[in-house]
Amino acid sequence: MSFDGHTTSSGSYPGPAGSIALNANVLVLNKYYQAIRVINVRRAFSMLCKELAEVIHIEDEGAGKSKWLNLNFTDWQELSSLKAEFEPDDYEWIHTVRFQIAVPRIIRLLGYDKLPRQDVKFNRRNIYARDGSKCQYCGKKFPTTDLSLDHVTPKSQGGKSTWDNIVCSCIRCNVKKGGRTPEQAHMHLITKPVKPKRSPVINIRLADERYSSWKQFLDNAYWTVELK
Ligand SMILES: [Zn+2]
Repeated sequence: MSFDGHTTSSGSYPGPAGSIALNANVLVLNKYYQAIRVINVRRAFSMLCKELAEVIHIEDEGAGKSKWLNLNFTDWQELSSLKAEFEPDDYEWIHTVRFQIAVPRIIRLLGYDKLPRQDVKFNRRNIYARDGSKCQYCGKKFPTTDLSLDHVTPKSQGGKSTWDNIVCSCIRCNVKKGGRTPEQAHMHLITKPVKPKRSPVINIRLADERYSSWKQFLDNAYWTVELK
């Protein structure tokens, strides 16, 4: 079975399912239920089909209660067909030639026992995500191609390339600031730059209601990291 050539994004289901299901994100847990990364739907289904992973489905039971279900691919297919009938708007759908299946939000790798990385990688993508792609001087949002990374205290004055000394800046503000500190240039940072506690990319997803079920696993990961 292929999820590459024979899929279409949801067309027949309205509501939240109207978005392009293949662009949805899936949270991956290790076998100890610790969040380790976010992947795309295609990779998630590929691992489910190979039985390397199972779906963790959080069923809302109302009154603030919920329960989890551990489901293999066949179980998930069966549950999907019920959901398609009764709650189509609550899910995003992948249509294959033979059937339709709901996009899972969380999967668990059955044989993977490595622990989550404790540290947020210091790279361009995570810095842009931390700063919400906003210039930290003028506060405007820019496409990443129009943003550069600015050393708050310039390298020429001993500034380091670290989380608390690098921010996103638009080209205009970068030029205006030149080789000066914000004080010297009479410019102000809109937020004090700090090292994020967890992946800023995941934080952005969490703001999306579709991924609310991730929260309990991420909080768990967060506390695990903090207590070590
Ligand atoms: Zn700017």
